[in-house]
Amino acid sequence: MLLELKEIFLNEGSSSDFSYELDMSDIKVSLSRPFVSPVSVKANVSNHAGLVLLKIYVSFKFSYPCDRCAIDTLKSFEYNFEHILSVESEENSDYGSDCISVPDYTIELDKVVEDDILLELPSKILCSPDCKGLCSKCGKNLNEEMCNCITQTIDTRLEALRTLLKDEDLVVQENNSIELC
Ligand SMILES: [Zn+2]
Ligand SMILES: [Zn+2]
Repeated sequence: MLLELKEIFLNEGSSSDFSYELDMSDIKVSLSRPFVSPVSVKANVSNHAGLVLLKIYVSFKFSYPCDRCAIDTLKSFEYNFEHILSVESEENSDYGSDCISVPDYTIELDKVVEDDILLELPSKILCSPDCKGLCSKCGKNLNEEMCNCITQTIDTRLEALRTLLKDEDLVVQENNSIELC
């Protein structure tokens, strides 16, 4: 959505609300297209004594494979973003990275919203905080069913320990017998 902001820039105290649905279904995150339904966008642009602020509120559903078990996981997110708008070119602006330069008094809100959301998304999605993940040996989803790999590993380790202990016993016995002689 292209916002025309000249009126707001020229009138201190003015404010405008914008509300629409943004289709982000084409946007890829890694190999997924996680924006399964349109993103609800509410924005407000206001002029406070010459300082023009863009406030954005977004809410959306996000479907992404769990980082541990790879099951598709549907999450709801909502975020607030805030930017200062300036008619100065970016190099001349004093406000740093939160400032967006709008030299012709227009802004393409879709692009701003997309960039803000992609920067804010968590780096990992989990189906539940205590997801047990997949067995690294047999690939079974351990949330659904425990496999035998873990007990087998423990058994193998115990067996190795037993062998080790037996060897030590032998050494001790040998030493004893030497002492006895
Ligand atoms: Zn999971
Ligand atoms: Zn297993």
